Amino acid sequence: MKTKTAESILIEIKHLRPWSFSRIQKARKCTYDFYWSYVEKQKPAERADFFILGSGIHYILENAINTVFKRRKPLNYDVLKYFFEQFRHKEPSLNYEKVKPFLPKILTYANAQLRRMGKIQFFHSEVELCINREFAPTGFNGKEAFIRGKLDFVFAQEDTLYIVDHKTNRNRDFSKRIKTQLRWYALLAKAKYPEFKKLALEVHNVRYGTVRREIFTENDILNFRLKLVPIIEMVEEELLGKSFKDLTPSPSSANCRWCDFRHICPVRKE
Ligand code: SF4
Repeated sequence: MKTKTAESILIEIKHLRPWSFSRIQKARKCTYDFYWSYVEKQKPAERADFFILGSGIHYILENAINTVFKRRKPLNYDVLKYFFEQFRHKEPSLNYEKVKPFLPKILTYANAQLRRMGKIQFFHSEVELCINREFAPTGFNGKEAFIRGKLDFVFAQEDTLYIVDHKTNRNRDFSKRIKTQLRWYALLAKAKYPEFKKLALEVHNVRYGTVRREIFTENDILNFRLKLVPIIEMVEEELLGKSFKDLTPSPSSANCRWCDFRHICPVRKE
């Protein structure tokens, strides 16, 4: 079956780089999904409720952490409600009842940062990092951008750089996918802050208020880099110069279930 994208744009390097964790995941998961997302930049179907909820929770949490560090005193629920209302200006469909169960955990996590006051050297939330082909820091949107990512929360304490990713999903596991995502961030953070020999990769599940941690050394980063480069090279080789009709999609119930392009995909699996 033909889709409206059958006569299409050839994939160029500008469609591939800079690689983000989600971009490479998409390219490896299903080339149709990748093509519609990054080459044609098609409008996805309506965003699923859980994506909107996840964005709202991230927004409230990020602002709560920043406010705690700024005010140097505990927050209350009114402040969180204020951030919720701010988010609703952008995304009016987010329902307060959906957000409410997360607020006690957000409050606890944000206020717990007070214990770090005076111990940490710096902190950043929603920090954009990017490296070039030589793995040196470069501009997030620059010409040389090769790999990039937006890190939820980064702080330095003693000899360790902490990299925290906030999750809202129901799965409590420190899954292989989450570990790989955090290692991706560690690679970026190491280029920006080379003075840290030890990196603590943390997944903070906001739904349950849990934090799982993995320590990553310089050697681990080197090994990760050695594994990642051939994967990126393989994906680039596979996609460069191809048009839509040259691509082979990967329909499966796992891949198609949450795909943004189910509404236009001729081979989707239920
Ligand atoms: S619906 Fe399935 S086959 Fe189609 S683009 Fe999405 S993941 Fe690929």
